[in-house]
Amino acid sequence: MLTIYNSMSRCKEVFKPLHPGHAGMYVCGPTVYGDAHLGHARPAITFDVLYRYLTHLGYKVRYVRNITDVGHLEHDADEGEDKIAKKARLEQLEPMEVVQHYLNRYHRDMEALNVLPPSIEPHASGHIIEQIEYIKKILDAGYAYVSDGSVYFDVPKFNADYGYGRLSGRDIDELLSATRALDGQSEKRNPADFALWKKASPEHIMHWPSPWSEGFPGWHLECSTMGEKYLGTKFDIHGGGMDLKFPHHECEIAQSVAHNGTPAVHYWMHNNMITIDGQKMGKSLGNFITLEQFFTGNHPKLQQAYPPMVLRFFILQAHYRGTVDFSNEALQGAQTALRRMMEGYRRLRDLRPSETSDIDVADLKRRCYEALDDDLNTPVALAVLFDAVRVINQVNDGTAHATRADIDALRDLMDTFLGDIMGIRLDQDDAASIKPYEEAVDLLLEIRREAKSRKDWTTSDLIRDRLARIGFSVKDTKDGGFEWSLN
Ligand code: ZN
Repeated sequence: MLTIYNSMSRCKEVFKPLHPGHAGMYVCGPTVYGDAHLGHARPAITFDVLYRYLTHLGYKVRYVRNITDVGHLEHDADEGEDKIAKKARLEQLEPMEVVQHYLNRYHRDMEALNVLPPSIEPHASGHIIEQIEYIKKILDAGYAYVSDGSVYFDVPKFNADYGYGRLSGRDIDELLSATRALDGQSEKRNPADFALWKKASPEHIMHWPSPWSEGFPGWHLECSTMGEKYLGTKFDIHGGGMDLKFPHHECEIAQSVAHNGTPAVHYWMHNNMITIDGQKMGKSLGNFITLEQFFTGNHPKLQQAYPPMVLRFFILQAHYRGTVDFSNEALQGAQTALRRMMEGYRRLRDLRPSETSDIDVADLKRRCYEALDDDLNTPVALAVLFDAVRVINQVNDGTAHATRADIDALRDLMDTFLGDIMGIRLDQDDAASIKPYEEAVDLLLEIRREAKSRKDWTTSDLIRDRLARIGFSVKDTKDGGFEWSLN
């Protein structure tokens, strides 16, 4: 039975869908005002694996991942300028031009990482009417107030009635009293209050009419509104990065409780962060690496290009709740491991069946399920698949025996768990673009075999020694062929 860690209850819970056979999941998507970076890859891949696994288990999954194209404010969540609007102003573009440009690039990067598109990808700007209606209901319920054309959520009142800050474990009393007193110029009654609607300043280019002002919705609101629109007032899973727990998800909870009297989300799941050489990623730190830069190797911090599948494998090698630290060494380690996995997978097609069997594929399969059922433990599942590769290698060199049915079961195991669920592309040798160099090595060894048949030992030894120096080990097989591997 699938257990998942619920960030709200702070413990693992057995996944029980609200509607039998169905699973509704909402994941906070990107703000499209710049290229996707390593930090975007982790939630995308984590929840892609969850989506794939739930689907594999037979659930009909509706997966909603939003696009933040308005309302993501630059500094303080309630002041300043919308990031996309700012980018549009600086680059003299229509805001939607900026959005489309980066959204296309985001989709391209996700496709490269083999992240499946969600069932619905709603845009915040396409749901302004719904957001206005949502605000009206919160106002009617008494948990928001209008101030100079903007609408703010009344955090102290909500806290007194329902409690605020439970997801992130914040002490709200401390938060409310510790924040400095308002200087009298703010529209907010309390510094902890957050904007549901913001009156637009005259130069603000993204704005819509509302009962309160010509303005735009607050960022937190879009997820509550679109989650409810597409998944209902109660749905199963809400995911996102740990950095979104506070204030974003806390605000979402407050909004939905104020709106419906009950929380919308059954299970909250948060992936941990990725650091680079132990540091948080940031433009000012010079360690901000986009996915495209990883794929091309075009960044001073990168020693080489890293194919998308290597990045995906690297992320899956850690449990989603653990931290991941990027370094060239770590990614090169992932590349070597993935190559080993893929070599095992390819070797499957060469296995010769025996009449008898001394391997246990059913046990491998059971252990894969056990790992993923345990809060989506991808590193343990990968370790089991490496055990499967070891078995494949043993059958290949004759130290273990497998029947035709065993070999088919091994292939099914790899196709299902490595391919369908982990999302590693098995149809291409993405591990360091293996295909061209693999063929080049095969060609060299073909020439060597011919040289040997002509008793041209100089050429034959030269090829073998030079390949050995690069790190290839070549083995002659009994039938006059050869095998090679990269150490
Ligand atoms: Zn969100």
